[in-house]
Formats: sequence, C-alpha cells, structure tokens
Amino acid sequence: MMLNKLSPVLDKSEWHITIVDQHEKHYYQPGFLFIPFGIYSCNDVIKPKRDFFPSGTEVIMSEIDRIEPAENRIILNNKVILNYDYLIIATGARIKPEETEGLKDGLWHKNIFDFYTLEGACSLADFFKRWEGGKNDVNITEMPIKCPVAPLEFVFLQIPILQKKVSGIK
Ligand SMILES: Cc1cc2nc3c(=O)[nH]c(=O)nc-3n(C[C@H](O)[C@H](O)[C@H](O)COP(=O)(O)OP(=O)(O)OC[C@H]3O[C@@H](n4cnc5c(N)ncnc54)[C@H](O)[C@@H]3O)c2cc1C
Repeated sequence: MMLNKLSPVLDKSEWHITIVDQHEKHYYQPGFLFIPFGIYSCNDVIKPKRDFFPSGTEVIMSEIDRIEPAENRIILNNKVILNYDYLIIATGARIKPEETEGLKDGLWHKNIFDFYTLEGACSLADFFKRWEGGKNDVNITEMPIKCPVAPLEFVFLQIPILQKKVSGIK
C-alpha cells in the first residue's frame, strides 16, 4: 500500500525505493474468513507479490535479520546491509495460540481451529465438510488480534451451516 501510494508522487530522480519481503507470495488475509464456508478456496487468496509492485521499485526477497536505527540501516539474513534515509516498517502480526492455555494441547487444527492463518482456514474448511453438527464455541483471544470484527462475521457466516446440520435453529 505504502509503495503504491508513494511511488507515483516521489520524484524518481531524487528517490530510490526498495521493498524487502521474505516471501514471494501475497496472502489476502481478509479472504481467510470465507475459506471455511467454501466461498473462497485456498488458492483464491494467494497471489504473487511482485504483481503489485510498481515498476522501478527495487525488490529484495529476503528475511530481515535486524534493524539498526542508530546507524540508519537494516541487516538482511545473508548479512547484506541496506542503508536508508527513511524506513517504513510493515511486518504485520502473527497469531500466538501457544499463549492461550490448552489451545495447542494436541487438538490444534483437529477440532480447535483458527481462521487467521491459511493453514487454519483450510483445515477448518475440511472439518466443516465432515462435521455432523454440535456445539461450536468462538473464542476471542487477548487483543490485539488481526481483525477484531472477524469473529462476529464468522458467527454470522456460520448460521446457514448450523441451520443445515442442527434441526430447530431459526
Ligand atoms: C480473517 C481476517 C480478516 C480480516 N479482515 C479485514 C478487513 O475486513 N478489513 C481490513 O482492513 N483488514 C482485515 N484484516 C487485517 C488485514 O488482513 C491486515 O491488517 C493486513 O493484512 C496487514 O497488512 P500488513 O502489510 O501490515 O501485514 P502483512 O500482510 O502480514 O504483511 C507483513 C509482511 O511482512 C513480511 N515480514 C515480516 N517479518 C519480516 C522479516 N523479518 N523479514 C522480511 N519480511 C518480513 C511478511 O512476510 C509479510 O509479507 C483481516 C485479517 C484476517 C486474518
């Protein structure tokens, strides 16, 4: 987003923009919500990142080992040093299910699922295909979470499935 906003307005004779990312694949995370319900498939949410980078951008696919702000530089995993005048950090957020007691005690992605990762959303989609109905709790963990409204959306999206599987629900 930052790259696509900045690139057209910065004078190319004065600015050199470099983007560093560790993965070639872009995961459209809001789409993860729809995978368990078969609205999206796992493949629908994966695109090559390079398709979204404006021309003229220097692209480096590498993990960043560390930032040294006092030196205005970042160090890549392969020890390459990149100097900068301005640095924008957008390293995202990762889920930490191991920090909620019991979540990862053997049933993770078997009958306890997340839909905040591709693996979680796809395994939940498989589970819903064979689920015969029953009680289903949605657990909201400690903030911050990637999308605070998604658990509500998930519950609403689930209603048609529950209506099919459990008699008596209106
Ligand atoms: C189920 C779900 C539903 C959502 N719904 C919405 C919605 O409706 N509306 C909305 O606005 N948002 C929604 N979000 C949130 C939205 O997806 C995220 O806020 C957004 O993707 C964050 O973008 P980002 O670029 O900051 O981080 P990310 O997309 O996570 O990208 C971070 C990038 O940094 C890279 N990176 C991290 N560490 C390093 C390193 N050390 N070296 C190199 N590269 C590194 C990663 O490889 C990754 O490519 C939802 C999220 C989920 C999971």
